Amino acid sequence: MVEETLSTEQTEVETDATLQVRDLHVYFHTAAGAVKAVNGVNFALKKGERFGLVGESGSGKSTIALSLLRLIKPPGRIEGGQVFLNGVDLVSLTEEEMRRKRLDEIALVAQGAMNSLNPVRRIRDQFMLAFQDHGIDVKRSGINDHIGDLLSRVGLSRDVADMFPHELSGGMKQRVCIALAISLSPSVIIADEPTSALDVVVQWQVMDTLRRVQEDLGASVILIGHDMGLMAQFVDRLGVMYAGRLVEIAKVKDMFGDPLHPYGQMLIASLPSLEVKQDRLQGIPGITPSLLNPPSGCPFHTRCPKMMEHCKTVTPVLQEVREDHWVACHLYEEAK
Ligand code: SF4
Repeated sequence: MVEETLSTEQTEVETDATLQVRDLHVYFHTAAGAVKAVNGVNFALKKGERFGLVGESGSGKSTIALSLLRLIKPPGRIEGGQVFLNGVDLVSLTEEEMRRKRLDEIALVAQGAMNSLNPVRRIRDQFMLAFQDHGIDVKRSGINDHIGDLLSRVGLSRDVADMFPHELSGGMKQRVCIALAISLSPSVIIADEPTSALDVVVQWQVMDTLRRVQEDLGASVILIGHDMGLMAQFVDRLGVMYAGRLVEIAKVKDMFGDPLHPYGQMLIASLPSLEVKQDRLQGIPGITPSLLNPPSGCPFHTRCPKMMEHCKTVTPVLQEVREDHWVACHLYEEAK
């Protein structure tokens, strides 16, 4: 159980949400103590929405991805909170119930997923194995057509089904992984840095493919990454993670045009701009705090240029300070 009092953070309530994450806590238990990788996260994902999660390495964004799929391995553990997918709390399911939900309702396109393809099996067999794992009769007529259709939907020739992974380029393999992820028409696709190993042109092609299949399916997507350019082009809303917490959530145009949290502001200011010539890129001074002993109060107070005395002791809660713009910062507490 969570050792400290669970956050009283205002939940982003969405009655029509496909996915609703409430007060999620995920800790990694090490010899030195509990590393609070995700420390009270709340957000909701609407049907058909593309939601981005950004933050520095170690901010907890990939841990959230694995937690939503219940794929956190020991010493990691979901300590508290709920993850409602189409009204069912995934955290409370048995392992077997959760195994069936994966692919069926929630699927992952992981970082370097293309390397997870079995090198000694043809692509067709990899689809068959996934289908068998979900109790689908792979001997039924039409199954090969279905695999061909899935490959066509991600822009690949149907002949790819008879190839081995080593015969495909990195971009083609990642498309196969997207085709596998959508093979059972999930309502949520989690894409964790899906293009990080690809060159820029292929990155855009893969993201375009992901957008197309997502729109065809009417699925929602959570895109995890740190490429703000890719986020700006792909997502509808963006959540900024810092030290295991979501510190700002806004529509992408508001996040880029008028970020409110000091960390969000520094993140956006650090991006290169075509209009404003910069001699050197601005970094964010200071280092990310240890999640083993996170700072008291606001986790950003050790680096924040606007820090006030009570920021050192009182943790700000995520609140909607403008329409669909949520911030966890004491600067905005009177702004509601
Ligand atoms: Fe800065 Fe205080 Fe806001 Fe934290 S709560 S971001 S320290 S102003």
